[in-house]
Amino acid sequence: MVAVIGLGNMGMAVLKRLIASGHLPRGWDLDPAKREAARQAGAEIAADLAASLAEITLFSLPHDAAVAAVLQEALPALQPGAVIIDTSTLSPRAVRGFAEQAAAQGVSYLDAPVSGGPAGAAAGSMAMMVGGDAAALERATPILQHLTARLLHIGPSGAGQVAKLVNNLLVASHLVTAGEALRLGAAAGVAPEALLPVLNGASGRSAVTEVNWPRWIIPGTFDSGFSAGLMRKDVGLALALARELDVPLEATGRAALLWQELREAVPDEADFNHLSAAILAGAKP
Ligand code: NAD
Repeated sequence: MVAVIGLGNMGMAVLKRLIASGHLPRGWDLDPAKREAARQAGAEIAADLAASLAEITLFSLPHDAAVAAVLQEALPALQPGAVIIDTSTLSPRAVRGFAEQAAAQGVSYLDAPVSGGPAGAAAGSMAMMVGGDAAALERATPILQHLTARLLHIGPSGAGQVAKLVNNLLVASHLVTAGEALRLGAAAGVAPEALLPVLNGASGRSAVTEVNWPRWIIPGTFDSGFSAGLMRKDVGLALALARELDVPLEATGRAALLWQELREAVPDEADFNHLSAAILAGAKP
């Protein structure tokens, strides 16, 4: 049996992918409307969180505090031997604490953040970077292989989150630098539409120029399913990690600061791709 706790943009896509791969997952979210949508999609919806858990339980929650709240209720209700696969993006320090708390109850907690967004979750093509016990990961792998194209065991508890924060610090920086470079091109008379095929066939390309700009920014859809607020959280976690370890971030730190400074032009509820578009349009801190 498998369960998904947190049925937002990512959790709902994961749940539907599990249903499409022949599972009958349980689902739970604080929001009754999300629970009803999951029931209509074919999931089993129980009366409360404790009754919604399973041998393999995936979390898809917004932040450390939400996971702490869910664990407080879930750990006493889980059977020893159960595995929690936490796909949320969280602080490495917090997840080490969660793994210890779970281990005291005989439960394995793996940090397993993902990349690929709701579209990747729906297609089963996410990259998942896992920290924690390898044997527990092996037990969950028959489920996880329906969700991921790349399932990577990075190291001990917290290592998955470190990998995710490094990745998202780069994505956040690439959105800043691509917006700025395309602005220079546009000011000099070459539009983004003309520049992007050049960059993507040359050495200046990144996932932001290859995917984000053509898929969400140029057509103006801005429907990636990842909010600027969640990216700000990830950037904040990366900066906190750098401070904790006394690692200077000269260039990525400046890009991270811009994410905070452009909060008015790009509010937390907006799609995260707006940040790059706002820089192209000349938004100033
Ligand atoms: P979201 O805000 O759409 O969904 C979060 C869900 O969690 C909401 O439905 C909310 O009601 C629910 N929730 C909050 N507290 C809860 C609690 N105590 N108990 C039960 N449910 C609770 O967020 P999302 O975009 O789905 O992201 C989920 C996680 O995945 C985040 O940590 C995010 O950083 C990460 N992530 C998101 C993406 C993406 O593209 N959206 C990609 C990779 C990773």
